[in-house]
Order: sequence, then structure tokens, then C-alpha cells
Amino acid sequence: MISNDHGLKYDGIKDGFLTTATQCPSPNANQRPSGKLVSLLVIHNISLPPGEFGTGCVQKFFTNQLDSSSHPYFLTISELKVSAHVFIERTGNIIQFVPFDARAWHAGASSFRGVANCNDYSIGIELEGCDDIEYTDAQYEALASLTRQIVAAYPDITPDRIVGHNQIAPERKTDPGEAFDWLRFHQLLATN
Ligand SMILES: [Zn+2]
Repeated sequence: MISNDHGLKYDGIKDGFLTTATQCPSPNANQRPSGKLVSLLVIHNISLPPGEFGTGCVQKFFTNQLDSSSHPYFLTISELKVSAHVFIERTGNIIQFVPFDARAWHAGASSFRGVANCNDYSIGIELEGCDDIEYTDAQYEALASLTRQIVAAYPDITPDRIVGHNQIAPERKTDPGEAFDWLRFHQLLATN
């Protein structure tokens, strides 16, 4: 974290871009409704094909370039146009698809504390993974570091407004799953 003479913090997020991330722009995004503060962080998981890591297929999926004939599962998702702001690979590498100020299409039908359409006011982070496979140390560290930077840039995201996809769409979604160690994540957030 760097502070200038005026006390402003430059935490590596500039104009909605994480300066240290690999940029992979997705067309599956649009403007947030005017007047909507960014005030929620949603943690997800994804792997494509499910359970396989490091394939490059998530990047293709979020940019509408997935070859639906290359795997039977891909046929079932070929019509979807989705994205997330960032994707954290098993190595801890961070890929950004959508600037944080824009609206990524990650949450779907969702609601938090009675406010629907979480995409309008949230940032979505995808961890490369599955509900029942332990996430890597590198992912926890990258996630905690990124979350600190996001919270510095978007202070309406208070610790109680960092949730799993399962919490905002409980009928449809289970991610990030029981494998995600919330206590460890919050401890990392608090101590670094
Ligand atoms: Zn999800």
C-alpha cells in the first residue's frame, strides 16, 4: 500500500482496473445502474470442464469463445453469456475480465438483505475450483490481498457484505462450497 502526501491510498486499483492482473476483457458486461454504490463482494467457484484446472477454458467461456463441441459439458452452457470481474487461478494468478466500476454478469437471479439483482451493486470473484476440493494457499493469499485492495477502493464493502454466491442465490447455487474456509479467509484479511 502506498500513500501520497495527501493521505490518498493507491492500492493497485486504478480506474476500476487491478494494475497487477492480466487483463482479458469480456463483452459480457455493461454499466451499473446510476446511483448504485458498489457495496457487496461475491465469491464464486468455477472450473471448466468441471473439476479440471488450468485448462484456459474459463477465459474462453467468459469471452464467448468456448468451443461447445470440445466437451459434452460445454454444450450445456453454450448459450450462457456470463462473466466475473476477476478469476483467481489455482496458482494465485489473477485475470480481470470486467472493470470493477462496470457490471459483470456473475450473480444471476439473486438477492442480498432484500435487495435484488446483486450484479447491479456487487463485485464478483471466481476462484478456480469446486465445492469439495480444497482451494490452494496461493488462492487464499491472492483473494485476501485482492479483497483488501477492493475494500480500500470501495469502502461500502464492509466485512459483513462479503458473501458466497450460495448466500445470495440459495435455491440455485452452492459455490464457493464447503471447501471454502471462511474463517481462514477472514483471518487472512484481518492480519495482513
Ligand atoms: Zn457462482
